[in-house]
This record gives sequence, C-alpha cells and structure tokens, in this order.
Amino acid sequence: MVKKRLISVIYLLVFLGILGVGIGKMWGKGREAKASFFAMDTYISLTLYGKDGEKAVLEAQEKMTELEGLWSATHKESIVYALNHSGGAPVILDDETKELLRFAVSMARETEGALEPTIYPVLLSWGFTTGENRIPDREEIQDLLKYVGYDNIRIHGKEALLPSGTQLDFGAVAKGYAGDMLVELLRERGITSGLLDLGGNIQAIGSKPDGSSWRIGLRDPFGDGYLGVIEASDLAVVTSGNYERFFVGEDGNVYGHIIDPVTGCPADSGLASVTVIAKEGKVCDALSTALFVMGLEKASDYWREHRDFDMILITEDGKIYLTEGAKSRFSLNNSYEEYKWELIGER
Ligand code: ADP
Ligand code: MG
Repeated sequence: MVKKRLISVIYLLVFLGILGVGIGKMWGKGREAKASFFAMDTYISLTLYGKDGEKAVLEAQEKMTELEGLWSATHKESIVYALNHSGGAPVILDDETKELLRFAVSMARETEGALEPTIYPVLLSWGFTTGENRIPDREEIQDLLKYVGYDNIRIHGKEALLPSGTQLDFGAVAKGYAGDMLVELLRERGITSGLLDLGGNIQAIGSKPDGSSWRIGLRDPFGDGYLGVIEASDLAVVTSGNYERFFVGEDGNVYGHIIDPVTGCPADSGLASVTVIAKEGKVCDALSTALFVMGLEKASDYWREHRDFDMILITEDGKIYLTEGAKSRFSLNNSYEEYKWELIGER
C-alpha cells in the first residue's frame, strides 16, 4: 500500500517536473525583451524573444553605443574624426572600422560612385550635420568636390590614409553595418526571434515567436501613414528618402540629405523613396542610398545586372515600381489601394 502510494507520488513529481520544464520553455520563448535608445543620430528600438533576451538586449545596446563612438563623424573621439583631421597622415584602424571602410569603398565602386563615402565636405557645406542649413553657391561646391572621390582612400594593412581635405562619412552605411553586427551578436547569444529597428533600417532575426513572418510597415513618403506592409523573416528592409531629413531653402525648394556626388547637390532623381530588401543590412543600407541617387532608370538597370536583392521604388509622382520578389512580400494598405504600381522586369 505504502509502496503504491510512493510510486504514485513519484509519478506525480515526474509529471509536475515535465510540466514545469514545458512551461518554463514556453515562458522563456515568448518572453519579450526591449530596449529603446538614441544612437547614430536616430531612434533605435530592439525587440527580442528568447530565454536570455534581457541580457542580450543590453549587450546589443552597449555594442551600438560603442560603434557610434567609432563611426560618428562629429564625435571628436571617433576614428572617423581622427581620419578626417589627420591632415594626410596615416591612421591605424581597428578591425571593424577597416572592414566597414573596405565595404563602403567596394560599394562605391560597384555603384560607380553613386555611393560616395567621401561626400562629407559637401554635406557639411549644406549644413546637414549641424542643422544650420544653407544653400552653398556653385563655386563653393565645385571647390569642395575636388576633395570628393572614393579613389582617394588608401588602405594599407592596418592603416588608412586620406589626403588632406578629403573627409569620410559613414552616414549611408553605418547603421546597416552595425545592424548586421548586432544580428550576429544576438544570434551568438541564442536569440532566434527579434526585430531591430535602427531608425527605419529594419533587421529581422528569424520569424515572429509564433512562426509567422514579421510585418514591416513601408512609410508613405508623402505623409505620415504607412503605404503598406512588407512580410519578411531573416531579412533586412532599409528605406532611404528625403522625407525625414531635409530643409526648405529660402528659394522655397526642398533640399534632402542624400547628395548626388556628381553635382554636389541634394539628389533630385525623381524618387521619393527607395526600399531595399536583402539578407544583409549593410547591403540594403548602401544600396538604398545609391539607388536613390541613381533614379528609376539607372536603379532598375542596376537591379537587372545584380538581382541579389529586391527593391520598391516610389517616384515623386506617386507611382510604385517594384521587383517580383518585393511584390510577393508586399501588400498595399486599404487607404492606398488606388496607388498605381508596375513591376520592374526585363528591359
Ligand atoms: P538615413 O541615414 O536617413 O537612413 P541613408 O542611409 O540614405 O539615410 O544615408 C544618408 C546619409 O548618408 C546622409 O545623411 C549623409 O550622411 C550620407 N550621404 C549623403 N549622400 C551620400 C552619398 N551619395 N553617398 C554616401 N553617403 C551619402
Ligand atoms: Mg543608406
């Protein structure tokens, strides 16, 4: 009798134990860890699901702050600042900065200079870094353009060298590059589901905890709402446009923060926004800026030649052009259903 009871108790304990582990696992899986903070000149929000999410999210925030310290062109302690004020002397780079610099130069080459990591002197003259915007005159721009050109950048071993007057700006690629580094770090910490929002650069880790795709809003470049939703898992979705950082000049024109390196003036290519969807945040970030400079025709040709990413282009006249892969993920919100769209296909 006693023995029977003992066996029942053991069964019960084993059952409770299994139940406990199950609940613990579910709890761990579904638990959300969040962090919102300001870095790299933008609002960042990280949402993670998983067992050690709280610890991981803090580590990610720390990493982001560390990278900002390295790559900000305005922080006087940053490596970019050191390069920009080196007066032509070589500067020793840490591995991460060297990789970012190599990446920026390779994308500049690939996009034939539409991405131009040495655009900084021109950007400064338009006042985009200080917020004290102005319209520089032609001569001033032509003078500054002499220092612009990714071919000026020399990398030897651990050192980089910029000629005096040439200045770097990682504004178009740093957030994407940092996003990839955070994704890698978080995966190492066991995070299998999460959404990183780095000022509109979205990077999805895995799917939502329930297994469905993340739903990422595509901003209406002409208003405050969302044009539609992009479904994505394990992907980066990055948008560049002139609707967030711009100023209205004394002449009444709108001047955006993406500069056409050929003219030294804000890109005026007929596009209102460019969204790039691909595995890596750095590729999305570099391309969204470069394709914005190129405009519809050149950007479409670039896609035809590469095809290793998807994109959604919205023109100033309110039409959507998108690749097949982007279309399969994208749905327009009800209030925008009258929007015209067209597939980017063969020529
Ligand atoms: P955001 O930073 O708003 O997400 P982007 O990724 O398109 O937008 O980067 C724009 C930033 O990149 C600008 O604020 C400036 O710092 C820098 N920039 C502007 N024009 C160029 C260009 N043609 N090539 C490289 N960087 C650029
Ligand atoms: Mg960019």
